[in-house]
Amino acid sequence: MINISPHTNVCNLLTFDTEEWFHANYDRVNLAECRGKGSNFRQQMDGLLQLCSDTGCKATFFVLGCIGEDYPDVVRSIVRSGHEVASHGYSHQLAYTQTREVFRADVKKSVSILENLTGMKVQGYRAPSWSIVEKNLHYLETLEELGISYDASIFPVKTFLYGIPDAPTTIHHPRVNGRELNLFEVPMSVTRLFGKNIGYSGGFYFRFFPHFFIKQCIQRANRRGENAIVYLHPREIDAEERRLSLSWKEAFIHFHNIRGTKDKLERIMKEFTFISIAEHLRRMQQDQRS
Ligand SMILES: [Zn+2]
Repeated sequence: MINISPHTNVCNLLTFDTEEWFHANYDRVNLAECRGKGSNFRQQMDGLLQLCSDTGCKATFFVLGCIGEDYPDVVRSIVRSGHEVASHGYSHQLAYTQTREVFRADVKKSVSILENLTGMKVQGYRAPSWSIVEKNLHYLETLEELGISYDASIFPVKTFLYGIPDAPTTIHHPRVNGRELNLFEVPMSVTRLFGKNIGYSGGFYFRFFPHFFIKQCIQRANRRGENAIVYLHPREIDAEERRLSLSWKEAFIHFHNIRGTKDKLERIMKEFTFISIAEHLRRMQQDQRS
């Protein structure tokens, strides 16, 4: 009943970018000013962990370093519940606006905070707002230097904020400066629509598309032997959370259909099997060895 894919051995990957309501990369949003002003973050995280427990799903939580400082107990409870804690950077700055040195310091600080809290090695990284793009692809070398095993920051689409439209769409070792890196790239899931790649299983796309469409796309990926990745933010399951003041277009992208998202997520989590990215890579490498 749980797994509707004919390929029952294909698991899907569940990820949450673990941050507060104001962590967004719009010009007028002052992140430092919003910090510490209160939010429903704890209740949202309780809700997500409960959902995982009720459906038997495991997830990767990409946690900001500043969240580790402000909510250490929440980060520990993620690990206690058997999920993976990975890094979302320290302060939610767009990676392509940071120099390589600043990027390095930001990731390193977050990893150190999270490892001290959990006592476990941070294996993965996801940049805020998918901000590893063509022009800063070489930042992946920095992640490799920091001992990160996988990056999950590349979205093979083109939008005004992010994306590498012709990036590989399956897990691979990326090439930078003519060298294959010793880390995995885990690109965000896309489907082909009108000749273009488009997201379907996370954030705005997950909120925008109806349940049957998302379900079909995941089934299609699974039939090809590929796993689909779902990503959401804690604020996206909470219609009562306070809201940023945004332009009409930004507000549509940021808040569209939040009211229906938790139920949709619950249906998808009941219909498919989800595991963390680290667990998937572990199984993948084990399969390759045997
Ligand atoms: Zn984020």
